[in-house]
Amino acid sequence: MNRAVFLGKDGTYNVPCETEPSLITLDAYVIEALQQLHQQDYMMFMITNQPGIAFGCFSEADLHTVFIQTNKKLKEHGTRLQGLYYCPHHHQGKQWPYNTTCHCHKPRPAMLRRAAEEYNIDMLESWMIGETLDDMEAGNQAGCKTILIDNGKEIQWNGEELRKPDHTAANLLEAAEFITRRTRYSRFVEQL
Ligand SMILES: [Zn+2]
Repeated sequence: MNRAVFLGKDGTYNVPCETEPSLITLDAYVIEALQQLHQQDYMMFMITNQPGIAFGCFSEADLHTVFIQTNKKLKEHGTRLQGLYYCPHHHQGKQWPYNTTCHCHKPRPAMLRRAAEEYNIDMLESWMIGETLDDMEAGNQAGCKTILIDNGKEIQWNGEELRKPDHTAANLLEAAEFITRRTRYSRFVEQL
């Protein structure tokens, strides 16, 4: 079985039409993080709510184009994202057929489960990294380990077990380093 890191980058939920379909900002530290995870044999997936599609701000095709461009840049640095899973829906949207409630919107775990099924992923060996507690809930429900990037947006944790991260990190690189240390340690223990 494979193991994976799911990246929960989202557009700005409350103001959907300000959302750009950009997936990840490819700062040097982000590239380094993805390189590290790649070296540890993790498949990497974007798991993202993109309500901007339901609001008619951009199309699914636009999102795919951004994903392809992002991956092209990553491949130049010896790493890549295995796949993109997104929810294009929003119940207040105006664009048919996306203006509906759905079963894939995070915090639901449906997108992670679909990736797991399509890529034969062992969730117990996998991680969800995200900036929101919705990401943590989706990851926890899907049965993987969770890391919250604490950028100050989601500091309020009201004690709900389902939304509790296993670990917090300041940024994606710190999260990747934590996963790398954990992975090396479990390999070491397996060899004993
Ligand atoms: Zn959806």
